[in-house]
Amino acid sequence: MMQFCQEHWDDLRIEIAKAGLADAVSKDGAEAVRRFKTKDADPLLEAHNIIMVLGAKRGLVEGCPVCHVAAESGGVTDAEIIRMTVENVKERRAVALGKGGEG
Ligand SMILES: [Zn+2]
Repeated sequence: MMQFCQEHWDDLRIEIAKAGLADAVSKDGAEAVRRFKTKDADPLLEAHNIIMVLGAKRGLVEGCPVCHVAAESGGVTDAEIIRMTVENVKERRAVALGKGGEG
């Protein structure tokens, strides 16, 4: 089973906070699941899912997708993968919630 290592899970949470999205993170798993299909989806869960898909596309079935993708990408660091993913989530959110345009 694919699962974030503790270090990368912590890094993802920190990056979400840096992006100003900490307030939008669900208080528990049930809330995150409930919001999953809404415009106000949990940004932490969204970022997590994007990276899981990235790992799956590269054939990973076991271990941490951030570690795996960083090791295979030839130059892109783990920090960059996390940062780019969180930026992506932030942009999507802004568009979904009608705050797009200014960045
Ligand atoms: Zn990792």
